[in-house]
Amino acid sequence: MPEEATASAPDTTGRPGRKVKATVLVDAGLCKACGICISLCPEHVFDRDAAGVAVAARQGDCTACRLCEWHCPDFAIEVHAERAGAGEDV
Ligand code: SF4
Ligand code: SF4
Repeated sequence: MPEEATASAPDTTGRPGRKVKATVLVDAGLCKACGICISLCPEHVFDRDAAGVAVAARQGDCTACRLCEWHCPDFAIEVHAERAGAGEDV
């Protein structure tokens, strides 16, 4: 279970019709700072910290597509998603 490198952030995008609330967890101990997730994320959710480790800085923009989770070579990312307002995993 990766430790939370970043806390779950509220959706600050104000996008109408948002149906999924996503939480992106990066295990900083597993991340080798390859940048794959940063390049792949279509919503530009990630930044790097001073060591180059991926940080999910804009979780409110995450659509839970899971591209980052599937492509991280070190299994350092977990994406959790629930239907907004329902508290139900998707
Ligand atoms: S793809 Fe995985 S190992 Fe590479 S920067 Fe992202 S979290 Fe780190
Ligand atoms: S699940 Fe998709 S939108 Fe969310 S951080 Fe990963 S690549 Fe970006």
